[in-house]
Amino acid sequence: MQTRLFASTGVKVPVIGQGTWQMKKDGLEALRAGIDLGMIHIDTAEMYTGSEELIAEAMRGIRKRIFLVSKVSPSNASYKGTLRACDASLKRLRTDYVDVYLLHWWSGSHPIADTMRAMEELVTAGKIRHIGVSNLDVDQLKQAQKGLKREKIVCNQVLYHLRSRSVESQVLPYCESQNIAVVGYSPFGKGNFPAATGKQGKALQTIAERHGKTPRQVALNFLTRRKSLFAIPKASNVDHVRENAGGTGWELAPDDLRLIDSVFPPPGENEPLEMI
Ligand code: NAP
Repeated sequence: MQTRLFASTGVKVPVIGQGTWQMKKDGLEALRAGIDLGMIHIDTAEMYTGSEELIAEAMRGIRKRIFLVSKVSPSNASYKGTLRACDASLKRLRTDYVDVYLLHWWSGSHPIADTMRAMEELVTAGKIRHIGVSNLDVDQLKQAQKGLKREKIVCNQVLYHLRSRSVESQVLPYCESQNIAVVGYSPFGKGNFPAATGKQGKALQTIAERHGKTPRQVALNFLTRRKSLFAIPKASNVDHVRENAGGTGWELAPDDLRLIDSVFPPPGENEPLEMI
């Protein structure tokens, strides 16, 4: 599995990780298979009922190998609420630290400065290694960073799939200018992957055949084509995990990129960031 530096963390992280939203207990085997393939960036959230407990099981005896990400829900993201939420996640995850702790999305329920102050305290306490955010546009990213005295925001986890490229408009260039990793979630459109019979599916198939890959591997390769980009597909099926692991370690050619742009148009200049 190809790895790359995850922003300023100094840690090399697999380009393709594993999402766990709505993963049930039967996803354990797939999670473990993914870990064996090097997909050790595992994403969860306090909101994903049952996921943190499942990951605890998958990480048993190998915690140090895993790059673990969890998230505080906006409704809990007051100063004290963030501290409490992190403790509760650590308990469910049966670990004493997460690698990156994120604010799940911006809601305005609590001042961002309070959330970020709590995040810095969690770093000091050794309960989280790094601070990240999710679903934040450029203005919100700037406000979140302003709330931090010592730490840097290391990632912004955002919706990114072929049919939703709004992140490329403003967030991706800004994150690259600030050395913030961009972690694309729902890379297959959450079950809305282009059908093989349509124009988009046929274009993916053409590119896949040129490289001896599958359309989903083409999608993952495209979504991680820049040094700032990571993807976290969710797969409960072991065969799906194996296929996803093959989305990296090879390169799309300029012709492939042009064909993708022609059927999945890139966003305009000022397109607002979409979220799920
Ligand atoms: P996704 O990864 O785009 O799609 C998941 C669906 O694709 C599942 O039905 C899965 O089936 C299927 N799939 C995966 N690999 C496949 C393959 N090789 N062939 C055929 N089907 C395949 O959707 P997602 O779960 O929304 O997004 C991924 C992760 O991003 C989440 O799990 C979560 O960790 C994170 N996320 C974050 C946010 C946020 O606000 N920060 C929001 C949404 C998601 P099986 O499960 O049956 O294998």
